[in-house]
Amino acid sequence: MAGIDFSQLSHTPCYICEEALLEKNLQLLNRVQEESGAKVILALKGFAMWSTFDLVGNYLQGCTASGLHEAKLAREKMNKEVHTYSPAFKEDEIDEIARISDDIVFNSPSQFHRYYERVKAINPSISVSLRVNPEYSSSPVDMYNPCGIYSRLGTTKVNFDESLLGKLDGLNFHALCEQNVDALEGVLEAFEAKFGSYIEGMKYVNFGGGHHITRSDYDVDRLITVIKAFRARHNNITVYLEPGEAVGWQTGPLVASVLDIIHNGMDIAILDTSAEAHMPDTLAMPYRAAIRGAGESGEKAHTYRLGGNTCLAGDIMGDYSFDTPLNVGDKIIFEDQIHYTFVKNTTFNGVKLPSLAIWTKEGKLEMIHEFGYEDYKNRLS
Ligand SMILES: *Cc1c(COP(=O)(O)O)cnc(C)c1O
Repeated sequence: MAGIDFSQLSHTPCYICEEALLEKNLQLLNRVQEESGAKVILALKGFAMWSTFDLVGNYLQGCTASGLHEAKLAREKMNKEVHTYSPAFKEDEIDEIARISDDIVFNSPSQFHRYYERVKAINPSISVSLRVNPEYSSSPVDMYNPCGIYSRLGTTKVNFDESLLGKLDGLNFHALCEQNVDALEGVLEAFEAKFGSYIEGMKYVNFGGGHHITRSDYDVDRLITVIKAFRARHNNITVYLEPGEAVGWQTGPLVASVLDIIHNGMDIAILDTSAEAHMPDTLAMPYRAAIRGAGESGEKAHTYRLGGNTCLAGDIMGDYSFDTPLNVGDKIIFEDQIHYTFVKNTTFNGVKLPSLAIWTKEGKLEMIHEFGYEDYKNRLS
C-alpha cells in the first residue's frame, strides 16, 4: 500500500485519514460481525469524520451517540441505526432524541421513569435499554475507567429496579478501554453473575466499546468465540459492540511543521500544532505519540524537545531524537492521530484548528475542511 505523498499537502497542521487503512479496519470489524453474528456500530465519541461515513456505513450497522448532537450527526450523515445514550437526558432535548433514535439507553432507573412514556409516545418503535455497571474493570487509567469507585456511568446491581423488566429491550455495559478480549471475558463473567437472570426477555445486550479489535495483537478469533458462546448461552440473543478507537486506530497522522528552534539547556523545536489543543490525550491519558523517523530522547544524533504554539508551559509533545538536525519548515508526522483527537479539539489560545484531509485509495490528497478565525470567534461572544 503506497503511503501518503506529503508533497501534495499545501499547509500544516493537518490530520490526514488514510481511506485504505480505515477500510482495512472496517473489513476486520465486518469479519467479527459475519463470524460471530454480532452487530458493530461506531462510537462517534472517538471518531466522527463524517466525510468517511458512506464508507463506514458500507460495513457497520450504524452509530452510537452520546446525546443530541451526536445522534443528529449519526442520522444526518450515516442514517443507519442510531443508538443514543447519555449519562442524563435533558428535558428540552429528549423529544428530538426520541424521534431520531432507534434505541435509547438510559443510565439510571430514575431517568427511565422520567422519560420512558414520553419517548414511547413520540416513537413507538424505539427500543429502550438500561446501561448497567458490572462493577468490574481492568481499565488501566482511572480517567478512563467507567467502573471505578463512585462511577456515575451505569446502574449497579443494588440500584437496579426490577419493575423495569418487561419494558426493557436491552442491557448495555461499557467497561473497557483499549483492551484485549481477556478483559472482555472478565467483564462478561461479572455482568452475567450480576445481571444474567435479566437477559432472558431482552432483545439484545450491548458490550460497549474499548475493544481494541484492530490492534495487531488483538485476539480476534477469541472474540468471535466469546461472542458466539455468549449468544449460545442466551437463546441466540443479538450482541452489539460499539468501538470508537478501534475504527480510527492507526488510520493516519497529524502533520505539523517546525516554526522555530531555540535553546534553553537543550534544543527545543516549536511546532505549528499543540498537544493541549490538538492531541489532548497525549496529556490526559497520558501517552507519547510516535513520530515518523524519530527515536527516543538520545537514541539518534539530534534530540529536541517538541512544544506547541500556545502559551501553556506544559504544551509539550515530548523529547524526540532525529538522524539529522531539524530545520524551520520541516514536517513532523505524528502517527495515529485520527481517533480521540479532532473530536476533542479546542481553539484554546486562538491557535488554528488543524485541517482535515483524506488520503484516498486512488492516491490523492483531498482537503476536506480548513478552519480559520471564524471558528475561534463563533465559540466566543
Ligand atoms: C467511549 C464509549 C465507547 C467507545 O469506546 P472506545 O474506547 O473508543 O472503543 C462506546 N460506548 C460508550 C458508552 C462509550 O462511552
